[in-house]
Amino acid sequence: PLILLDPGHGGVDPGARGQKGRFEKSIVLSYAIELRRQLLKTGRYKVILTRYNDVFVSLRKRIAIAQAAKADLFISLHADSIANKNLRGGSVYTLSKTASDKEAAALARRENKSDLILGFNLNKENKSVAKVLIDISQNYTKNESIKFAKILVSSLGKRIRMLRKPLRSAGFTVLKAPAIPSVLLELGYLSNRIDERLLRSFKQRRIISNLIVKAISKYFSTNKLFVGHKSAKFGF
Ligand code: ZN
Repeated sequence: PLILLDPGHGGVDPGARGQKGRFEKSIVLSYAIELRRQLLKTGRYKVILTRYNDVFVSLRKRIAIAQAAKADLFISLHADSIANKNLRGGSVYTLSKTASDKEAAALARRENKSDLILGFNLNKENKSVAKVLIDISQNYTKNESIKFAKILVSSLGKRIRMLRKPLRSAGFTVLKAPAIPSVLLELGYLSNRIDERLLRSFKQRRIISNLIVKAISKYFSTNKLFVGHKSAKFGF
């Protein structure tokens, strides 16, 4: 299986900022690199990152990279920031037209802002492209995304703090690659001191990456549709 890892933000888009000044863009990149290392070590996966250094990559470009590579799984990595400094914990999001709650909708708006920084008109683009793209094998992709999200939540929940309702959905642009199961993982809150400290820790990064690798392995071991029949799945 080919795993597409998508460290959020980058370049002129720093993402959230921790109290100690660390940017989300650099934290999620270090997670993607560690995760890649661990995935390659299993000898079972191919791994591609949407960015390997501190550069800006538009959300549409991220989707295009996943499509061109014919990825089997897309994982977008993020860390949030919020006014309530007590809030901490991870969460996993899948794509949905209607957000699971207000917080999820607000988060999707924050994350989707990325492309506006360089002046891409996402909404206009979405109307023509996304409608066609999303409709294709929508149900399959949605079900597979939720299946993986559930596995990921239960794997992470064994060792790290998760939000009370860790499985959520909202209209994240970056999760719209057609026919590729996609989830967005919010590793925690940079606005919370404990989460920020953990997210900057090398040890924690190794632990979390290991839990993600376990979730990926579980997902593919239960996924009978896979095994090199990528085109057969959808009949094109
Ligand atoms: Zn983000």
